Amino acid sequence: MLGGGFAGSYVARLLKKRGATIVSPENFMLYTPLLPEAGAGTLEPRHVVVPIRQMCPHAELLLGRATSLDESARVVRAETLTGPLEISYERLVVALGAVTRTLPVPGLAEHGLGFKSLADAIALRNRVLQQLELAATDPDAVDQLGYVFVGAGYAGVEALAELHDLSHAALRFYPTLRGVKQRWVLVDAAPKILPEIPMRLGEYAHRHLEKQGVEIHVETTLESYDGRAARLSNGTVVPARTLVWTAGVRAHPLLSTLGLPIDERGRVRVDETLRVEGCEDVWALGDGAAVPNARTPGLVDPPTCQHALRQARRLVKNLTGAPKPYGYRMLGQVATLGHYKGIAEIPGLRLRGFLGWFVARTYHLYQLPLLSRKLRVVTDWTVSLLFRRDIVELSMLGHPEKLGE
Ligand SMILES: Cc1cc2nc3c(=O)[nH]c(=O)nc-3n(C[C@H](O)[C@H](O)[C@H](O)COP(=O)(O)OP(=O)(O)OC[C@H]3O[C@@H](n4cnc5c(N)ncnc54)[C@H](O)[C@@H]3O)c2cc1C
Repeated sequence: MLGGGFAGSYVARLLKKRGATIVSPENFMLYTPLLPEAGAGTLEPRHVVVPIRQMCPHAELLLGRATSLDESARVVRAETLTGPLEISYERLVVALGAVTRTLPVPGLAEHGLGFKSLADAIALRNRVLQQLELAATDPDAVDQLGYVFVGAGYAGVEALAELHDLSHAALRFYPTLRGVKQRWVLVDAAPKILPEIPMRLGEYAHRHLEKQGVEIHVETTLESYDGRAARLSNGTVVPARTLVWTAGVRAHPLLSTLGLPIDERGRVRVDETLRVEGCEDVWALGDGAAVPNARTPGLVDPPTCQHALRQARRLVKNLTGAPKPYGYRMLGQVATLGHYKGIAEIPGLRLRGFLGWFVARTYHLYQLPLLSRKLRVVTDWTVSLLFRRDIVELSMLGHPEKLGE
């Protein structure tokens, strides 16, 4: 199994005692839908990840990165903790996922932040809290509390909503910032935010964010960013020390070097049973594969956990029995919009506000693997209902002082 993310971990978990060897740079699976809440501090970072060794007790975990594949010799090469390793396989599952897709916008690579990993979420949380500390010493510097989020899909909208709430809730502890305006701006090239969800729910999300003071620019792109101001294609200039780029993903770049067939977006091409085209014993799924779906003819699956999970279920059946075509129709979609607000589309119902928020949280709790993780998350949520937001800024974590310094 190359990759222990959503797709890879689920395949290994569902294979149970049949066993698997997972090659993964981390020893955990990140439950990405809860990442915005980890960024906002509502959830402990450790509680939004699931240890692979607990989730897949029958699998062998090799911490490292796959580097190349020799399909004819059935060998994967990987850079592991102990150095380079050759791993032979009977059957290979490729689940390397996707990386953030950036565009050649001047200044973006140098000054922009991503929101894809746990490290990204915690770095952003620390940045928001640091900006409050900085602004407290110089309330006239308007760019300190300026934030631009480019990309109004789930990740961008949820991250903005959660961090916006954190920053405003923290203000009560900064007396010198009373009355100082923050500027939170959401930008997207599409004509509406959250294009994946039904129109009415998207409109609700738009209205709710605007009511919170978020400035939304649709049909707009980022032209440049120099670390202090973002210039938008509609002529708006936003003074902002923080710009978060969440405008889409692209297949993991390693995929195009493995010698497997790939499509124009760099995703591995698989047939309807998730077998890589032209390969007998190589299978692929998740964000890094172009997976045809029998329930949506002519379309390959979008990059979502929901699809990765359903693909994993079908793949395990195909690996252990007669392969059958994969098919899945999305049952619904949920998103949270900060404290107590959310949207949810479930069969026969479209919910918004508190009910949408409640259903979104309940759904994620149900989907999160391991009872111990679920309990930790429920405890965090309960504590956050009773107490004010935690505003400690822990950017020093991972950088201990050397002895003698
Ligand atoms: C902030 C955010 C919020 C999201 N929210 C939602 C949501 O609410 N609902 C939803 O349905 N979807 C959501 N998604 C999308 C969802 O996370 C993905 O669709 C899903 O994770 C895809 O699973 P995957 O296994 O293909 O990729 P990933 O989960 O990304 O896993 C890929 C794995 O490959 C590993 N890897 C990378 N390089 C190597 C290498 N060289 N060798 C070995 N392993 C390697 C990575 O470390 C990673 O663990 C969200 C995504 C983000 C970023």
